[in-house]
Amino acid sequence: GANKKDGAKMTPMMAQYHAIKKEYPREILFFRMGDFYEMMFDDAIKAAGLLGITLTKRGRGTASEAPMCGIPHHAAENYIAKLIKLGQRVAVCDQVSDPKDGKGIVQREVTRVVTPGTVLDENCMEGKEFQYLAAILDEGDRLGVAFMEFSTGRFEVSQLEGEQAYLQLMDLLTAKDPAELLVRETDDLERIDPGFLKERCVTPIDDWYFGKDYARQQLLDHFETLTLDGYGLEPLDLATRTAGAALSYIYQTQKSKASHLQSLKVLNQSAYMVLDGTTQRNLELTRSLFDGNRTESLLGQIDMCRTVMGSRLLKEWILQPLTDVAEIVARQTYVTSFVTGTIPRTEMRAVLGGVPDLDRQVSRLAMGNINPRDLLGIAEALGKIPDIVNQLDEVVPDRYGLDDDLFSALWGMHEHILKSLPDEPPSHMRDGGYMADGVDAELDELRTLRRDSRAILAQIEAREREVTGIPKLKVQYNKVFGYYIEVGKVHTAKVPEHYVRKQTLVNSERYITGELKEYETKILGAEEKILEIEARLYSELLRHCQDRINHLRTWSRTVAQIDLHAALAELAVQRNYCRPNMSDSDELEIIDGRHPVVESLSEEPFIANDTFLNNREDRVLIITGPNMGGKSTYLRQVALITLMAQMGSYVPASKADIGVVDRIFTRVGASDHLARGQSTFMVEMTETANILNHAGPRSLIIMDEIGRGTSTFDGLSIAWAVAEYLHDKERIGAKTLFATHYHEMTDLEKLCEGVTNLHITVKEWKNKIVFLRRIERGAADQSYGIHVAQLAGLPGEVVRRGREILSNLEKNELDTTGKPRLAAAKKPDPAAAAQAAPLQLSLFGPEPSPVLDALRALEVDELTPRKALDLLFEWKSMV
Ligand code: ADP
Repeated sequence: GANKKDGAKMTPMMAQYHAIKKEYPREILFFRMGDFYEMMFDDAIKAAGLLGITLTKRGRGTASEAPMCGIPHHAAENYIAKLIKLGQRVAVCDQVSDPKDGKGIVQREVTRVVTPGTVLDENCMEGKEFQYLAAILDEGDRLGVAFMEFSTGRFEVSQLEGEQAYLQLMDLLTAKDPAELLVRETDDLERIDPGFLKERCVTPIDDWYFGKDYARQQLLDHFETLTLDGYGLEPLDLATRTAGAALSYIYQTQKSKASHLQSLKVLNQSAYMVLDGTTQRNLELTRSLFDGNRTESLLGQIDMCRTVMGSRLLKEWILQPLTDVAEIVARQTYVTSFVTGTIPRTEMRAVLGGVPDLDRQVSRLAMGNINPRDLLGIAEALGKIPDIVNQLDEVVPDRYGLDDDLFSALWGMHEHILKSLPDEPPSHMRDGGYMADGVDAELDELRTLRRDSRAILAQIEAREREVTGIPKLKVQYNKVFGYYIEVGKVHTAKVPEHYVRKQTLVNSERYITGELKEYETKILGAEEKILEIEARLYSELLRHCQDRINHLRTWSRTVAQIDLHAALAELAVQRNYCRPNMSDSDELEIIDGRHPVVESLSEEPFIANDTFLNNREDRVLIITGPNMGGKSTYLRQVALITLMAQMGSYVPASKADIGVVDRIFTRVGASDHLARGQSTFMVEMTETANILNHAGPRSLIIMDEIGRGTSTFDGLSIAWAVAEYLHDKERIGAKTLFATHYHEMTDLEKLCEGVTNLHITVKEWKNKIVFLRRIERGAADQSYGIHVAQLAGLPGEVVRRGREILSNLEKNELDTTGKPRLAAAKKPDPAAAAQAAPLQLSLFGPEPSPVLDALRALEVDELTPRKALDLLFEWKSMV
């Protein structure tokens, strides 16, 4: 017990608080007291800060003084949502005995623990995204990981072994982007990127949750099986242990059996293209590099889904493109049906527009905490079945694998719910009224009684007035006596024998009668009975639906697929995409390729470009050209088109032949890392090392401006060596796009059979640069840096000085600091050094000078002596 000073006695309630808090040391404890949830001690300080509510003191001035803050219980969900979004866990402790009938202190119990990875409340979730709970187990060279998406019932595991285990784990973690990480209490998490951990809720749990026998037993009990062979899990002990731990955690936080977790999948890494975290970021697949928003990412720009289930599936497809040609083609076939109109796209999308988030409602249903409105929502969603299925008839031979059993089960459920619930169920259940009339005879009878009670009492009142002859006799109700008859003092003589006097007031007397008591019991009883019956009927209804939950899941998954196929078709039509030819060849040919995001965000017309890559003569493309010319855009566009093709999508091009790639690697400008405070060059080299160590001949590699973070000689030498290594078939021999500002690297083309030079075209116009953005064969012939600097508005003086230095360098002179000119030492490769260094030709003629310009423009004949002298002074000051 904290804060127990001077032997001050703790109240029983505080003792209760401390006992409960001890069980939930890491959660913020919401402690129900009357109409409020109170937080105390450190929880109060933390919550007050996070929620921006007032911190007060309990027992001010006494020995048991404690920081405290509270929130009204009816607003609890909002506050919980806020805390969850901030990565906190909340334990909700309720009063479980009625304060009225209890002697002593009210019983309290934690009824649920809400955590970022297990939450079901929509307010806490980003609707369009999966929200994963991940459990990890690190045994050095062996790793286990389990992913659970509680709201949709997805449960996936993986076991990683060998040298690359750790990197693969990070790839997976980045792909799933879990909100919460479960780890062993004794795990120091040394190996996990602190940046990754910082952004999520890390929950240490007792080590024994991860114990082999315990975890396995949990899974067996949950799935009600005798072995885990059916899930392919028996040989994977680490995967089993993480899955079991995740499951126990769910049981513990939800305080119930999570019956909607019905299956478990072992992730098969090789079925998917691997996209490491860096690549996901660099290609801005789901978030923009600039500020992390979704809108300007690939996901944001190609998401045309009409349902959240579809959007969620799209994110998964983007992060896990396929590698199997047949599977890709299968997806394409569906998309094509929607493109050509074999399945009416517009009509289908119109129907889908009204389908609510089935996944999450279904999870609530499974957990038994779905309210009647949401249940009705499920029924309405099921009502769309005929509209959707009719459009698939005949066309898709297998109707997405849906069969008539499924439809009749779902349709039965649809009808049953509609029949059982009223058209507009109340938003909360405490006052009843959420079961429809006509479902249960007794319920109807009681409701009639309740409805008629006013009339009946009025009848009694009228009759008694007549019988007794007392004009102002009234039938009334209060909490103490229930129903009674009130008679004015002047009339008491007329009161009949069977009236029993209960209370005397100044001007009147109050009586009860047997008849009234009988009604009272009936009416008050009816109220209670109604609530009871409604609750029973509702739970029967839930059970009926829960029995069909597998069907619901299948349906929801299918709706997501149909929606996504139709959305990708819509995208293809609207943006003029083509269906890529997929193959296992090493060919990658794109005609008129465009960058899907730049094209859709920019107002300017996008200049399309071709790409030819294979593992032979066009293996490594060295791309040169001025800054801002479009090199990065081109590189990324090739990667994105390949990725989209392997998702099963159409692509922004007029024609594309895509031989599938197993991984995409990217190494691009380091600016995004600056904020993390790591050495830029170190980051760049670490990422490059990762590529060189893991790329294979089937990989696609994007290298943008490597070597920038160090001195020119260093940078060029490393860039050169890296390009050679990637090119070398004995080493990697992968398809590579290599953008560089080291013009010297274009010499590689002469030295290596698989290197091809490309450049971005620009045109000079009035001493300014016009970007044409066309990719052409050959090396760029100028460094346009100084022009770009001028365009960017650098002071004229700096631009002029820059030109001067450039011109000196080109003349093979020493620069002003006395260093040798760059080209003198620019050949790190001895073979290349033997070749004559091509002198950079100046496209813009000799260095321009304002003085010379002025002199040229001068009309000497019209000059007065005075003006000439002024000019001389002015020019003198400029040189
Ligand atoms: P670099 O990498 O050569 O410095 P970027 O690829 O960053 O240049 O391109 C600079 C800008 O030019 C981009 O922001 C983009 O808006 C635009 N751009 C690039 N390529 C194209 C293109 N093919 N068509 C139209 N605009 C483009």
